[in-house]
Amino acid sequence: MQHFPIFLAVAGRRIVVSGGGGAALSKLRLLLKTEAHLTVLAANAAPEIRDWAEQGKLKLIARAMEPGDALCAALFYGANEDAAEDARVARIAHRDGALVNIVDNLADSQFITPAIVDRDPVIVAIGTEGAAPVLARAIKKDIEERLPPVLGTLARIGKTFRASVEALPFGAKRRDFWADFYFSTGPRAIASGEQAVAPALERLLADHLNAAPRVGRVEFVGAGPGDPELLTLKARRALHEADVVIYDSLVTPEILELARREATLVDVGKEGFGAAIGQADINALIVEHGLHGAHVVRLKSGDPTVFGRLDEEIEACDGAGLVWSIVPGITAASAAVAAIGQSLTKRQRNGSVRFITGHDMKGFADHDWAALARPGEVAAIYMGKRAARFIQGRLLMHGARGDTPVTVIENASRPDQRVLSTTLALLEPTLSNAGLSGPALTLFGLAPRAALTAIADFPKEAAL
Ligand code: SAH
Repeated sequence: MQHFPIFLAVAGRRIVVSGGGGAALSKLRLLLKTEAHLTVLAANAAPEIRDWAEQGKLKLIARAMEPGDALCAALFYGANEDAAEDARVARIAHRDGALVNIVDNLADSQFITPAIVDRDPVIVAIGTEGAAPVLARAIKKDIEERLPPVLGTLARIGKTFRASVEALPFGAKRRDFWADFYFSTGPRAIASGEQAVAPALERLLADHLNAAPRVGRVEFVGAGPGDPELLTLKARRALHEADVVIYDSLVTPEILELARREATLVDVGKEGFGAAIGQADINALIVEHGLHGAHVVRLKSGDPTVFGRLDEEIEACDGAGLVWSIVPGITAASAAVAAIGQSLTKRQRNGSVRFITGHDMKGFADHDWAALARPGEVAAIYMGKRAARFIQGRLLMHGARGDTPVTVIENASRPDQRVLSTTLALLEPTLSNAGLSGPALTLFGLAPRAALTAIADFPKEAAL
């Protein structure tokens, strides 16, 4: 982030604009929405600017800029549409101590003005650091359509009510009240006119004050394999509403970004064999927050029901009398098989697929190797990196063919996804030599679809 977004208090402060043409006009239209004292320096100002000056909306000085003109100004705009003149006035404004923007000159500007969606007092500012003005305009259009015009009015009325709402305890209870106001009661009330909003607010507050204490609840939510676009809409909603998000190490930062700003995020990441924080502690944490009335989202990578120790956490909730539910997610096997363009099941090849784990609580996990060794079988092996040599040995010992395809997909669905295509006989040392560092899923019995391997930029490490 090269530009840090802030909302600057400008009421009663000076903002100076040098220039009187089209560029100055478009900046002034925006600046006139503020409560700043505006000064325009222009020998030849456009008629609109002269009108505004006559109406007392701004002060027009009908000459070119001179040293001292931007003294005590918070902001200065060079809008002369003339590079030499803008460079000259920018130097003066710098010396006068103002923050300088030169219209259409990112490199020499100390600040930039974002694209704005105005539902005063709700203001949405969109910036692309000058990189993609077209994109900023498209986003602005999208948001304009999404935010109802009444939002500003609701926010203004709501603001006058803030002090009364302090009767509700800080945190979830107050948030519930405002969510109810902005998205349900408020829009309904305003349909019968602005005067209906304040009484509706009074009634809503009384309802919330008399409401029974909030009961906590727990949602076990699948975060999917890492790509935020592979989240379900339910998972997104849960993240947006949660008071507390308890997440594993495989949950990506992009997904955590979707949690509400005020939510408490708790990292209980535990990877591989050594547990950073024990299961009993995680159970206790979930229960503790739930009993305090929080909406807890227990966020697990992939699908929470696949190798997620979900049942232990559910039992802890049941033990504490907490209401819980499960939001499924896309499991790593689905993302991995999609990456290689194959199906997990296929008529006349495999009518079933096994999801197996490379290791369990006791160490390397044992399975029905003889059944898996039969031709055509497919298995998705989770947590299989360290157990690779063990799995390879067991399968070969039970008669699996050495040339059975095996594909390891690291960081499935993420930008750093890698595909390692090999065979059972070569799985080790291929896997160790590849030095994978991210989560990896092993697909036993599947090779990348030939059409995909032919594409030169397919992120694949050919091991054969
Ligand atoms: N509940 C999860 C699995 C948790 S076990 C799910 O449904 O996906 C953790 C294992 O999942 C990792 O060791 C790895 O084998 C696999 N895994 C999770 N995310 C992955 C990803 N993005 N790419 C490849 N494998 C992944």
